[in-house]
Amino acid sequence: MNIYDLTIHELKDKLAEGELTPAEIKDAFSNRINEVEDKVKSYITITEELADEKVKDYENNKDEILAGIPIAVKDNMSTDGIETSCGSKMLENYKPPYNAAVIECLNKAGAVIMGKTNMDEFAMGSSTENSAFFNTHNPWNLKHAPGGSSGGSAAAVAAGECAAALGSDTGGSIRQPASYCGVVGLKPTYGMVSRYGLVAFASSLDQIGPITKDVEDSAIMMNVIAGHDEKDSTSVKGKKEDFSKYLKNDVSGMKIGIPKEYFELDFNEEVKQSVLAAVDKLKEAGAEVETVHMTDAAYALAAYYVIAPAEASSNLARYDGVRYGLRSEEADDISTMFTNTRHQGFGDEVKRRIMIGTYALSSGYYDAYYLKAQKVRTLIKDDFDRIFNDFDLVITPTAPNTAIELGSKSDPLEMYYTDIFTVPINIAGVPAISIPCGFDSNNLPIGLQMIGPHFEEGKIIQAAYTLEKLLNIKDKRAEL
Ligand code: GLN
Repeated sequence: MNIYDLTIHELKDKLAEGELTPAEIKDAFSNRINEVEDKVKSYITITEELADEKVKDYENNKDEILAGIPIAVKDNMSTDGIETSCGSKMLENYKPPYNAAVIECLNKAGAVIMGKTNMDEFAMGSSTENSAFFNTHNPWNLKHAPGGSSGGSAAAVAAGECAAALGSDTGGSIRQPASYCGVVGLKPTYGMVSRYGLVAFASSLDQIGPITKDVEDSAIMMNVIAGHDEKDSTSVKGKKEDFSKYLKNDVSGMKIGIPKEYFELDFNEEVKQSVLAAVDKLKEAGAEVETVHMTDAAYALAAYYVIAPAEASSNLARYDGVRYGLRSEEADDISTMFTNTRHQGFGDEVKRRIMIGTYALSSGYYDAYYLKAQKVRTLIKDDFDRIFNDFDLVITPTAPNTAIELGSKSDPLEMYYTDIFTVPINIAGVPAISIPCGFDSNNLPIGLQMIGPHFEEGKIIQAAYTLEKLLNIKDKRAEL
């Protein structure tokens, strides 16, 4: 295997055994970036010098969890003095004066940050095509999208341009691109990972999580980023867990629910069969699998596309050209400056969301849309609570399809439909992982989603680790 194909834990082993030096590792990933980045285009910014500095500093960090490990970060996490564009013209060249909490965690853990990855503008999208800068290409087939909105992070991991990456997930943006790129993506329970310094999209749904080459790396990354942070008022108090203790090859007696209503939706047959075949393997390994009934996911999708735009319309009001970010020069008075700045700085999808959100919150419509959506949200959360009284996990496909072709979906509603299986999880605030479970007839990866109760990332990690062993496809890499 090439150095750039190795997982975090494999690289750590090689460092510990003295088989590789941090400089050799960093160079292997940098060379890989030089070799494939023209084709894949995962990164908006590459932080070569900082990475070299961190490698030089290795001796001072060498006992930390991620010492010497190359990591990529989605471009909506604030990095002190380093451009954090959020995939938007509005924040092009914006250099935050502080680090997001997760960046502090990575730094403390000795990680070598390789750069900031491409994304849909303000994390709104499912293919990374809403980036204001360029498209990212799926390493499994360059004509296809990597998914989104953390498409740059997922593509970078799949292409060996970093060992692992951070993404953010508001309605599926870690899991869906992980599924499309054949890697592992974990969305933690809401409140498990600090959102301090994450550029806000929909604050009640946003959560940061890892995108990795395997489940073991996901547990390692969670050990680095999870935990209470007083700078985020929604951060959960409690003692830090060691997620690696759940890396156990055992699902015997685990109760898994298969939601009938989800599998009855109209979606790709190859995806459905691949997920069901994986479920059979878990059953053979001793899991108890039962069909369960859940609220139609279409209600969650409808509620999401009211709640998320409503919160976004409020969060994005701050981009007015006054304090930071883009300011339109073509204005004689302040009100025209506001208008022109927002007109020039935001792309079409972001404008669409701001308009929908403002409409849903306006007086007269608030009760009909926003309030109703919040009630649906409660019903969905109750639905998961009810299921998890009797079951340890629920399994669904991650996405209703495999990676779409770039430029193939121009209707926003069709694009929104790719979030059908991931959105209910954010609505309920529960954790979920996407792991690769097979390939379609075009050799594009298929993702399986495991959902657990609040704060039960451990159960998910254990079941996903076991399934990964049963499927034995985790070392298959995209050929570039
Ligand atoms: N695709 C969804 C959207 O466009 C989810 C995005 C996300 O999770 N950030 O809103």
